[in-house]
Amino acid sequence: MSTHRPTRTLFLSTRHLVRLVQRKGLSACLSGVADRIEAGYRRWHEFDKSARVACHSGVGVIELMPIADASQFAFKYVNGHPGNPARGLPTVMAFGVLADVDTGTPRLLSELTLTTAIRTAAMSALAARVLARPGSRSMALIGNGAQSEFQALAFCEIVGIRELRLFDTDPAASAKLAANLAGQGLHVRICRSTAEAVRGADIVTTVTADKTNATILTPELIEPGMHINAVGGDCPGKTELHPGVLQAAAVFVEYEPQTRIEGDIQQMPADFPVTEFWRVLDGSAAGRSGAGQVTVFDSVGFALEDYAALTFMRDTAAELGIGEMIELVPQAADPKNLYGLLRDEPVAAAREPALA
Ligand code: NAD
Repeated sequence: MSTHRPTRTLFLSTRHLVRLVQRKGLSACLSGVADRIEAGYRRWHEFDKSARVACHSGVGVIELMPIADASQFAFKYVNGHPGNPARGLPTVMAFGVLADVDTGTPRLLSELTLTTAIRTAAMSALAARVLARPGSRSMALIGNGAQSEFQALAFCEIVGIRELRLFDTDPAASAKLAANLAGQGLHVRICRSTAEAVRGADIVTTVTADKTNATILTPELIEPGMHINAVGGDCPGKTELHPGVLQAAAVFVEYEPQTRIEGDIQQMPADFPVTEFWRVLDGSAAGRSGAGQVTVFDSVGFALEDYAALTFMRDTAAELGIGEMIELVPQAADPKNLYGLLRDEPVAAAREPALA
């Protein structure tokens, strides 16, 4: 005789997420997700980790990112198509799931496009808080698309950045970013080149999208003590840093097996030295060695960050009473009688709303 266990799943749509972020506040979401990510990296050995699985095409990539600890499994579906904005679509779109490890029951099905922007910015700012020079106040932000507001606001909230210099090859993107940041306590200047934006900055964030080995930053642009947050080089054949920038820096990564394939370090020899970020947090590796050292966070996005973001959104949704319970998997009284669902349910086709 089986015990009937309800298997309802919380669904968070994009509309739910927008309401959640508006009610909680974006700053609270950025710092809340950063705290969860930090807590996750501090228990690194408790996670079953793997590099993500990617399907590449000539124009982009579609990836699956799984991870689990003893109680929860998470995965994210995410794409990266730099040509999408020209077709009226975002470069990055995502959704994800949290499930119970003991039964495999899916507990949360959530949008992850907005959430990815929040978690990526939270991760970048957390890394900079640990690796950048203390007292960093100015940041160059190269690439002013969908991720950029979140990067700017996370660095303001978590690192204390007060001055931003913007550059994008599309001036409309910079104008959009400057308009969205107006009135948020940041001094913002739009620049005519990457070199102008980078000159004198404490931190440089590159968050461009182009499926090529780009050289957004070249060695002559880099000044002693800068911290570089390289976000847009996250796929084979898609990089942002000239190899000379990496050669002259201390490089930090999320999960080395994945970053060797996807990060800016894909351009470097297999034995090029890098440090996994969790080691700096637990004290088993050094972070910045001094005020003059250049540090690079070679971000590609790791499943642990999505696990952290999904659990934050689940708990915040519960706190605010947001979301909808759905029947994603069947709830048969006798789990061995799946067929019985077809027999017992009245034929409802006529009542189903038409799919538009
Ligand atoms: P987006 O297409 O909305 O914006 C990218 C911007 O980069 C565009 O405005 C474009 O004009 C600009 N750009 C392209 N080439 C440039 C150049 N040479 N100099 C200056 N600007 C340039 O994309 P998005 O959603 O903001 O994502 C940006 C990048 O971040 C993508 O490459 C994406 O794959 C990556 N990403 C990484 C992570 C991570 O965890 N590391 C997470 C999300 C997105």
